[in-house]
Amino acid sequence: MATVGLTAKIAALDISGPSRVPPSTSSTARPTHAKQPSQPNVAKLPTKLAAPNPHQGHTNSSSLSTAPARSGTTQPAIDIGRYDGGLEAEDEKRGDAVTGEAAEDLALDSSLSRTYPTQEWTLHSFDMGRPLGKGKFGRVYMVRTKSAPKYILALKTLYKSELVKNKVEKQTRREIEIQQNLRHTNILRLYGYFHDEQRIFLMLEFAAQGELYRQLSKQGSFSERRSARYIDQMTDALSYLHTKHVIHRDIKPENLLLGINGELKIGDFGWSVHAPGLRRMTMCGTLDYLPPEMVEGKEHNERVCLPPVRFPHLNPLQVDHWALGVLTYEFMIGAPPFEDRKSVNNTYARIARVDLKFPPSISADAKDLISKLLVYDPQRRIALADVLRHPWIVKYRQKAAVPSV
Ligand code: AMP
Repeated sequence: MATVGLTAKIAALDISGPSRVPPSTSSTARPTHAKQPSQPNVAKLPTKLAAPNPHQGHTNSSSLSTAPARSGTTQPAIDIGRYDGGLEAEDEKRGDAVTGEAAEDLALDSSLSRTYPTQEWTLHSFDMGRPLGKGKFGRVYMVRTKSAPKYILALKTLYKSELVKNKVEKQTRREIEIQQNLRHTNILRLYGYFHDEQRIFLMLEFAAQGELYRQLSKQGSFSERRSARYIDQMTDALSYLHTKHVIHRDIKPENLLLGINGELKIGDFGWSVHAPGLRRMTMCGTLDYLPPEMVEGKEHNERVCLPPVRFPHLNPLQVDHWALGVLTYEFMIGAPPFEDRKSVNNTYARIARVDLKFPPSISADAKDLISKLLVYDPQRRIALADVLRHPWIVKYRQKAAVPSV
């Protein structure tokens, strides 16, 4: 793959339309180690040359977000692969048009966005490439914009009829609105979206190395170095989300993608919620990643949405801290810490009593961090800023390249 060209082309992408200054990010909860961005105001840059991530809060972020393409640079053509005709095939099966209130909810067009309007897009704006994957609601394709400078993207389709069938019209709308407003190296960027009668199309940043989960399954577990680097990036992204009052609520390897340089990208906002008041009465998540305050005294199915039973008055962001501990454990051990394959209720019982066991191979520093995240009382879980300062994270953090003078 033509890595350099691809990096530059992806990095060049900012398809915001009219000049609007994005709402500023509160800096109060930024981790202390994070480099404060020498932030170019994207709205002031020539649009097509703007780097996609104005929020550059991460010292070990990849070059993906930092290398704006220079005009006049010749870049090798990128092979986007062969389109398999999958969209037309899918249209036959689930392309029913949607009407009424649902149709209004799903009439999603980023060119009309109040905060980040983009230019108008249609399916004809793209050359279709190879299929990247299939989700519950439709397929994802590698595509290239037809007009120069021919950006590479992942185009995700969502069939409206499927969204309605699963009663997720409002959730989908919320997911899209949340993701479009986020700018962070480790959060998959949503550049724009449009729709036709049957489908919604999401123009997503292309995650060249695909699913993190696939690599974890293939390798069984990750080294401490690799795990620590992912957790460093994940923590920085979560800190950013929390400054925007977004709780992710569904952190797990299946929701993470990898960028062209292997950098982590949070890629799924299906369960995230915007909670400006920091108080939510319902929370959702996935079995192994649920914290004690959500499972105590309950019997559950795989996916749950419940009021936090025991600590309703507490800061719900702490749900993500717990899940970060579970993720750290799963990276290094290859399975979540409270898993009981025989019984869901046993898993919940183990979560509720924080029945945490480490194999002898895990270092003292890693154990220390995980034990500080997987704490029963949400208020006593380690702060994200302290995760970023933790010796296990600092030990493996790559030094930022010093620019040559
Ligand atoms: P999803 O519908 O988000 O679950 O996506 C289905 C599959 O498509 C994922 O499991 C990935 O393998 C692939 N995929 C989704 N989004 C992207 C992306 N932005 N870049 C590369 N591959 C993607």
